[in-house]
Amino acid sequence: MHWRQPEIKRTKTVCTYCGVGCSFEMWTRDRHILKVQPVAEAPANGISTCIKGKFAWDFVNSEKRLTMPLIRENGRFREAGWDEALDLVARRLIETRDKYGADSLGFIGSSKASNEEAYLTQKIARLIIGTNSVDNSSRYCQNPATKGLFRTVGYGGDAGSIEDIQKAEVVVIVGSNTAENHPVIASRIKAAQKLHGQKVIVIDPRKHEMAERADIYLKPKASTDLILASALSRYMFDNGYADQQFLDKWVNQVDEYRESLEPFTLEFAEEKTGISRQELIDTAEMIGKAGSVSLLWAMGITQHSHGSDTSTALSNLLVVTGNYGKPGTGGYPMRGHNNVQGASDFGCLRNMYPGYEKVTDDSARERWAKGWGVDKERLSDKVGEGNFLMVQSAEKEKLKAMYVIGEETAFSDADSANVHSAFEKLDFMVVQDIFMSRTAEFADVVLPGCPSVEKEGTFVNTERRIQRFYEVMPPLGDSRPDWCILTDLAARMGYDWGYTHPSQIMEECASISPLFAGVTYERLEGWKSLQWPVKADGSDSPLLYTEGFHSEDGKASLYPLEWKEPDEAPDEKYRFSLDNGRMLEHFQATNQTGRGPRIWDEAPGWFVEVSPELAAEKGIEDGTWVCLSSRRDSIEVRALVTSRVSGDTLFLPIHQGKPGVNALTGEHHDPDVDTPAYKETAVNLEVLDRE
Ligand code: SF4
Repeated sequence: MHWRQPEIKRTKTVCTYCGVGCSFEMWTRDRHILKVQPVAEAPANGISTCIKGKFAWDFVNSEKRLTMPLIRENGRFREAGWDEALDLVARRLIETRDKYGADSLGFIGSSKASNEEAYLTQKIARLIIGTNSVDNSSRYCQNPATKGLFRTVGYGGDAGSIEDIQKAEVVVIVGSNTAENHPVIASRIKAAQKLHGQKVIVIDPRKHEMAERADIYLKPKASTDLILASALSRYMFDNGYADQQFLDKWVNQVDEYRESLEPFTLEFAEEKTGISRQELIDTAEMIGKAGSVSLLWAMGITQHSHGSDTSTALSNLLVVTGNYGKPGTGGYPMRGHNNVQGASDFGCLRNMYPGYEKVTDDSARERWAKGWGVDKERLSDKVGEGNFLMVQSAEKEKLKAMYVIGEETAFSDADSANVHSAFEKLDFMVVQDIFMSRTAEFADVVLPGCPSVEKEGTFVNTERRIQRFYEVMPPLGDSRPDWCILTDLAARMGYDWGYTHPSQIMEECASISPLFAGVTYERLEGWKSLQWPVKADGSDSPLLYTEGFHSEDGKASLYPLEWKEPDEAPDEKYRFSLDNGRMLEHFQATNQTGRGPRIWDEAPGWFVEVSPELAAEKGIEDGTWVCLSSRRDSIEVRALVTSRVSGDTLFLPIHQGKPGVNALTGEHHDPDVDTPAYKETAVNLEVLDRE
């Protein structure tokens, strides 16, 4: 085989399946992906990857890829050339703006596309159209976590690095199925358990793999995590574990916060969470005595009607115990999609320019306007609508046009019947994607973008690490890199920016945004990476808050909270609490992981997890068909009996089904950030007489 070696091309790329941001070499011959080869230099993962990073690339050469623009005509799509499609899109977007105003348009950037593509998406929305209604899928998952960090410590990103999680004496994992959703981080924790006796506390209604491996596993009742975190904080103050030196030097609002903890006694926490007083004390003692604590959380916390408050409560606990700014400490919201962090960092947010500068901040608006060569008045200072509100506005026929890049909003947003109805009411819809997604089925124009392996750019992983990826192979057919599509579209709307390489887009962003001041493609060459904020001299920030917090006076704040009942809870008619989440083998709506046997054969079916107790009560066995109905709709699915869930809790993966889990979820949401409360879904379960 040696004679074949020269034909093999090795290209560095970054995985597009989760926020760990594993990088590796992809070995190819022409369009054939021969293997994925991890290398020791990869900053986030070294030689580790998971099944998706290693094998889930068959979709790249799928015959179902979109290779030509499509235009809807008489209810059917026909193929079109790029000139015709982009002229049509440019004309309709401008016409809509001129007729109904800038805020009648909404843009959803992709949390799978590059930072440069996110930057261009918001630049088109803000500069050309004149609206701040631009968002990304973090609205559906991580915005509550970011809100909690803004309230307490200041930056909307993980406090440290994966290395810090590994170094921590105690790791607390709350509402995160880390072994399936962030497998390489889970493997780092497993190694730390073995190598330096790291202690692990898992708090989750579902007994997943990390719960099995935990030193302490707590199973609180649904939607009571804020009580648990606040009771732990109170215990720290009452028992001498609050870090008084740290609080005196670095923290505001200590007294107000301490007073707000009055109701959160151990007795109250025991009653509400269902966790025994002794387990609460053991947990608090383990955290209080530890020299360093890292706390990981994810959608088990955020996707609730008060997810921002619970995220804040978790960060409060870390502040009380002085667990910020030292190696091995900090809050780590586990970012889901590979570039959900970057899509927000680079401005696909309804209220922030790239680098988290508020659109309502006059000086930021002035700087961005100057950077883009226009007067300040050209940029709107009105906070726009996020994904969730865009759908509500479309339903009310206030939003007239949407531009959706690489997101499966029709499948992923809550209450999908309502989303479909809203999309049908739009005057004009553009979807840019690599497959004819369920969202694209509602579009007037579909533009074929490219997956990461067919273009260059950068991503930001969960630890704020910016990494380059390189073109492994050329675009398929007439598909185009998304940054090229957006650049061409802007030119057709009168803005010829002339970008010929994504490095120029990054250079422009870095010249305006202080957060990225020192980011250049040269500093990211090969396996090099930078963790923001990056100063102009190129120095970066693997661990935040070592010299103070991100606030005007450099101090953190403790944020007083009250516990509120969830918006939807089980009752007599809808007795069961429906948990839902991801599986190791799949991603989003399986548009990518469902395209090849190497992944699909590992997990081809859909199931609802049912506890052994419930199975015994209802006569359910593995494979029994059941009907789940919520206040919105119903679905039919086979049962899987497992002790991962207990009592009246069910678990349904989010990837499969037509309709999927979001036929059941509702519009109730976190009022602070408009994230749907996916995890607060009460359902009824009926056994079906069906083979
Ligand atoms: Fe990809 Fe995440 Fe797996 Fe790494 S852990 S290979 S980034 S899916």
